Amino acid sequence: MLPARFLLTCLTAVCLSAQSSPDALRAASERLRAEASRTHGAYEDLAWLCDRIGHRLSGSPQLDQAIAWAQSRMKAAGLVNVHAEPVMVPHWVRGQESAELLEPARRPLNILGLGGSIGTPKEGVTADVVVVGSFDELEKLGPAVKGKIVLYDVPFKGYGHTVAYRHAGAARAAKFGAVASLVRSVGPVSLDTPHTGVMDYDPAYPKIPTAAVTIEAATQLHRMQDRGERIRLRLQMGAQTLPDAPSANVVGELRGSEKPEEVIILSGHLDSWDVGQGAQDDGAGVVFSMEAARLIQSLGLKPKRTIRVVLWTNEENGLRGGLGYRDAHRAELKDIVVAVESDSGSERVKTFSLDLPKASAQAKADALASLKSLSQAMEAFGAEFRLGGSGADVSPIVAEGVPGIGMHHAATHYFDIHHTHADTFDKVSRDDMDFNAAALATFAYALAQTDLKFR
Ligand SMILES: [Zn+2]
Repeated sequence: MLPARFLLTCLTAVCLSAQSSPDALRAASERLRAEASRTHGAYEDLAWLCDRIGHRLSGSPQLDQAIAWAQSRMKAAGLVNVHAEPVMVPHWVRGQESAELLEPARRPLNILGLGGSIGTPKEGVTADVVVVGSFDELEKLGPAVKGKIVLYDVPFKGYGHTVAYRHAGAARAAKFGAVASLVRSVGPVSLDTPHTGVMDYDPAYPKIPTAAVTIEAATQLHRMQDRGERIRLRLQMGAQTLPDAPSANVVGELRGSEKPEEVIILSGHLDSWDVGQGAQDDGAGVVFSMEAARLIQSLGLKPKRTIRVVLWTNEENGLRGGLGYRDAHRAELKDIVVAVESDSGSERVKTFSLDLPKASAQAKADALASLKSLSQAMEAFGAEFRLGGSGADVSPIVAEGVPGIGMHHAATHYFDIHHTHADTFDKVSRDDMDFNAAALATFAYALAQTDLKFR
C-alpha cells in the first residue's frame, strides 16, 4: 500500500494534467463563454468607465479617477497584488479652439488641435491657405508657402500611411516658413467629425500651431483652390503643454498555482484623447483584460502560470507607461511568457498575432507553430494565430525580447471614430464584448496551463 501522502501527490498530478488536456481546455472555454454571456462584465464596466468617468487624457483628473476605479474593480474581482506603478506623463491641454473660413465664403469649421501642438496668439493666426495632397507637392512649392497656412488633404489609405501627415505635417510646413498647418482627419469616412492624435515637432524648425479639419472641410477647401479662389482662414488655439504630471500603470494578478514566476500579461491602455469617451480607444482593451481575469477567478479555475493584468497610462501622447514598466521590471522581463495587448476597439477578435522582432525567421516559424497548439482550446472563437505586430504599450518590452501578442479586432468602423467626439459607448455591441472577454480569458488560461515558450 502506498503512503497516503504519495497517493495524494499522484492524484494531484493526474488532476492537473487532466486540466490541461484539450477536452478540459475546451470545457473551460465553454464555461468562460457562458459566464461572460451571463454576466456581461466587460460591457458593464465599459459603460461605467465611459459614462461616469469619460475621456481620460494624460494629466487629467479623469485619468486619475480611472486609475483608482480600475484598482477597485480588480480588487472586487479577487485579483491580488493590485497596485498602481507611478510614472510621470506629459500634460498637454487643449484650451479653447476655433477656426473660421473668411474667404471665399464665411463659415465656421470644426477642428481639433493635434496633441502636443502649441497654441496661437490670443487673436489667432489669420492667413491664406495652400492645400497640398502630399509632402512631394509641399516640397515643390517650397518657399511659396511662407506666411501661409498649409492644409494637407491626403485621403486615407490605411492608418500607417496617412498618419505620417498628422505626425510630421507641422514640421515639414514650418521648414518653408508656414505659420500654421492643418491636416485632413486621418480616417476613412466622416460625419463632419475631426480626429485628433499626437504630432511631433522637429527641433530643426519653428513650432507652429496645428489642428485637424474634417474630411468635408479639407475637400471643400481643395475644390476652392482648384477653382483658383483665394482661401483665407483664421485659426485660434489655446493649447499649451504644462509640466509633466504624475500618473500610473495599474497592475493586478491571478497568481499561478504551479509556476507563479512565469507571467502572462493581458493589457490595454487607460488613457484616451480628451474627446468622446475613449470607448473603442482603448476602454475596450482595458475591460477585456480585467474581465478575462475576473472570469477565470470567478469560475474557480486555477491557472498554473501567473496572469497579470496591466492597464497602461499615456499610450496616446508619450508611451511613458510602457517605457516605465520596462525600466521598473527589467529583472523579470525574461520570465514574461507573452505580453498581450488589445488596442483596436471592441469588435470581434480576428487574430492573435505573435510579435518577435528580434527572432530569426526559423525561430518565428517555430514559435508560431507552438502558439497554434492552442487552436483547439480556442476553437469556439475562430480567431487565427499568425505572425505580426503586437501593440504600442508593449513595444518597449517586446524590443527587449518579451514575446508580444496583438489581440486584433475586426475594426470595420474603428478608424471612422477613434480619436473623435464620436468614440462613445453607444457604438459598442454587448455580444461582441462578451465574446472578446471570453476569448481572451480562454487564451490566457489555456496558455497558463502549458509549458509553451516563444523565445
Ligand atoms: Zn489606443
